[in-house]
Formats: sequence, C-alpha cells, structure tokens
Amino acid sequence: MTTIKLHNSKTRKKEVFSPIDPDNVRMYVCGPTVYDRAHIGNARPVVVFDVLYRLLRHVYGPDHVTYVRNFTDVDDKINARAAESGREIGEITAETTQWYLDDMGALGAMEPNEMPRATQYIPQMIEMIEGLIADGFAYAKDGHALFRVRAYKHYGALSGRSVDDMIAGARVEVAPYKEDPMDFVLWKPSTDDLPGWDSPWGRGRPGWHIECSAMSKDLLGESFDIHGGGNDLQFPHHENEIAQSCCASGHAEDGGGFANYWLHNEMLQVEGKKMSKSLGNFFTVHDLLEQGIPGEVIRFVFLSTHYGKPMDWTAKKAAEAKEVLRKWAGVAVESERVGPDEEVVDALSDDLNTWGAIDRMHELFESDERELLSASAKLLGFDLLSIASSNWAKPFAFETEDGRFLEEGIDYLPTVAVFGWGTISDDVRDSALAIVHRWLKHRREKAWAEADALRDAALQAGVELRATRSPNGVNGGTASLLSEVSIAKLESLL
Ligand code: AMP
Ligand code: ZN
Repeated sequence: MTTIKLHNSKTRKKEVFSPIDPDNVRMYVCGPTVYDRAHIGNARPVVVFDVLYRLLRHVYGPDHVTYVRNFTDVDDKINARAAESGREIGEITAETTQWYLDDMGALGAMEPNEMPRATQYIPQMIEMIEGLIADGFAYAKDGHALFRVRAYKHYGALSGRSVDDMIAGARVEVAPYKEDPMDFVLWKPSTDDLPGWDSPWGRGRPGWHIECSAMSKDLLGESFDIHGGGNDLQFPHHENEIAQSCCASGHAEDGGGFANYWLHNEMLQVEGKKMSKSLGNFFTVHDLLEQGIPGEVIRFVFLSTHYGKPMDWTAKKAAEAKEVLRKWAGVAVESERVGPDEEVVDALSDDLNTWGAIDRMHELFESDERELLSASAKLLGFDLLSIASSNWAKPFAFETEDGRFLEEGIDYLPTVAVFGWGTISDDVRDSALAIVHRWLKHRREKAWAEADALRDAALQAGVELRATRSPNGVNGGTASLLSEVSIAKLESLL
C-alpha cells in the first residue's frame, strides 16, 4: 500500500500517516462562518483538503474515508449582518451555505461525507460543557461558561508556545466574569433579540470553539486521524478545540486523544499583498467565476503552490494555468481502464506535493501518455474530458476566403484567419481581421517600420500576428487571440 507522509503541525515533523482504523480513515476540517460569499483565501483549505480526501480515498478505498466539514451558523458576525440588513438569520445562513457549496463545487471540490451545522449540535455542546464544569476544567459565571485554561497543562502545545507568551501576543479580553484573562468562552448569554437556547446557565448561545469539539466527537469519535484548517486557526481556535476535547475525554493528563495529525494550510495573498477590502484586491470565488475565470483554472493555480507555503494569486498565473489545462484537455481520453500514474500518486503522498504531481503530468503530456494523464488529472480533481467540452477550452478558428471553420487535418493555410478560444464575438473577430489586413498592407508596401510597430502593439493587446503563404501563392496572415483580449484594445489599434 502507498505510504502517505504528512507534515504534522503538532510535532512540527513530516510523519508517516498511519490511521487508527484503515477501514475508516477520519478527517475533520473547520468550515466557514456563513454570513457572506467565500473569498478566494477561504477556498484554499477547501481545495487542499479536497486533494487530501481524494488521495485518502484512492489509497484506502472510497468507502473507507469519512470527511467532516462544519458550517458555523451561529456567530456574532451573522447576527450583525442580520441586524444591518434587516433579514432573518436563517435566511442569511441558508443562502450563504448554498453559495458556498456552489462556489466550492465550481472549484471541483467534492462534498464532504458530513457537513454539520453548529445549530444542530447545541445539546451535544451543552453536554460537553457540563462535563467540563463537573470535572473542574470549566466554570460558570454570570450566565457564561468559561474554559479554565490553566487547568489544562498542555495548553499551547500545538503552537509550541507557553500560556504566558500567548497572553502577551494575543488580544485576550479581560472581563469581570473571567477568573483569568486567558480563559475562553464556552457559552454566553443572549439578549432577547439574539439567537439563544435554554441551558443550565440561562438562555444563551455557544462560543465558537466548542462546536468543532462537539461535532467531531459526535461524527468521528473522541479520537480520529486528521484535523485541518488554515494556519490562522492554529491559535486560538485549534488550541482551544484540543483543550476542550482532551479534557472532556479523559486525556487532560497525557494531552492525547482527539486528532493525531494536524494539517494547516498557509495563507493566500493577491499580487504579493495581503488581501483586503481597503486595498481593492479582495475577491470572492464568485467574483472570479463571474469574470469568466473557470473554476478549474482557479483550482490549478491553487495546486501549483504547496499548501504549506504562502500562495500568491496573480492574473498571470491564472492565464498560464488556462493554457496548460487547454493543452491537456486537447488530448483528454476516457481513462476508466487505468489508474493514476504512480509518480503522481507518490508526489501527492509526499505531504501533498501537488506541484510535483503537476510537474510529472507535464512529462506525461510530453510523452503522449494520454490515459495516464487523464487518470492522474482526475485524482487531482480535474475532469479533462469535461474541460475539453467547455467553451473556454474549445479552439475557435475563422478564415476569410469562404468563412469556413477550420478543422484539424486541413493541409493548406488560408489567406487570412483568426484563431482563438471559445465563442468570439463578431466585433472581436472583425477587428482582428481588420488588423491583419492593415498589417499585410504595410508589408505589401514594404513599410516595415509600421508593420513591425503594429505587430508589437497587437502583441501587447493579446493578439499574435503571423505571416503565412497560401498554396495559391498569396501572402496571408493570421491573428491568434488570447481569450482575455478586449475589444476596446483591438479597436484602439485600428
Ligand atoms: P473563516 O470563515 O474566516 O473561519 O475561514 C474559513 C477557512 O478559510 C479557515 O480554514 C481559514 O483558515 C481559511 N482562510 C481564511 N483566510 C485565508 C487566506 N487568506 N488564505 C488561506 N486560507 C484562509
Ligand atoms: Zn474548528
């Protein structure tokens, strides 16, 4: 069997992955808080853990992996959104949840086996908190329940920091109901206008961290294999999940139990800068899809950087990814008979070396291993056959002599032709033809400087001009259009 190695944040080492039960490999990933569209950073863990899920299914069998990812549907950000928009909370969370599933589906992410919503697990959370209080790991005060951080001696083990260092570095809230500023909220009171549930501490709602402990226990058991999320969650969220779960399951002394392997993806930036609304470089996945960037292209860009490294989203990478996928889709075949290439599997098994897997797939393309390429792409979550049938990956060709669409196998070059991808509007096609004609005119008149200047300007605008010679001896030319070419730029050349 393939050996998978994963970098475990808990030990800060790359380790051989050995599941508790190979018949049921269990993974929990922290999901979104549902009050708005997911930004492209939020999509990174989804794609990363989707690849891990696919790899685990490949190695252990599709029926032997359980993947759980939650929806946080009770949160102060949701309450604030409801208050400012005057909409019902349930309406906002239901709408946002569906948006999330649609957008992540467009990125080729499979749905996890279980997608629990926090509001469905309130009794389990209350029960866990009651147990923690009974055992002295938590206390109730003024309608709140709080976790007593100093009662868990391994607190900070995941981040490798002491409690005092963490207090110094974090914005911990001092509050009258806290014994210690570091203690965190398990339950808090709700006013009448806020969502609330009856509890032994009065009507209230859960703090954020307890939901993941309660839901993972219910769906995966007290101990499971992999826990994932973005590295911004390592502290405090994951530190707190560990403290709650280990203390609730009798592992307070040894710090064991709960998740054996912790995986954290690094953050995503845009064009070298932290994504932020004020910098104007904040994109949702939906924004990119609306701009016509295919989900597969977004996925490919994500996978070209190792999950443990910061990744930079750039328009250039997206354009390059599109070209690669078009090229691969052009040789796509049915691949049911073969499995993925072994070297691709090996690369992924080495702590999800997606870049190495892609590198190997370039080799498969070069050596015309079409079935292996198609099957390997599938393991990475790309259906090359379906890409081949999508508009953006379909070659467009148009020639002026009789307007016929060129097909493969034609053995002469037309006088003037336009090549591109997908459906090109008549305006774009006609402008491109006019540019070719003007260029040919300069050349016939031996106005070489003008001809070259036009060719260079066209290239800047995303149009490559080439000279051809037809069998009838007439000099011709072609224009190859990038799909991103804009009509305004083309018209400015005329
Ligand atoms: P949130 O809804 O903010 O809790 O985030 C959902 C997931 O997205 C978590 O796993 C975060 O760690 C992750 N995440 C948030 N921002 C980024 C980013 N810029 N890059 C990568 N992952 C992110
Ligand atoms: Zn969580």
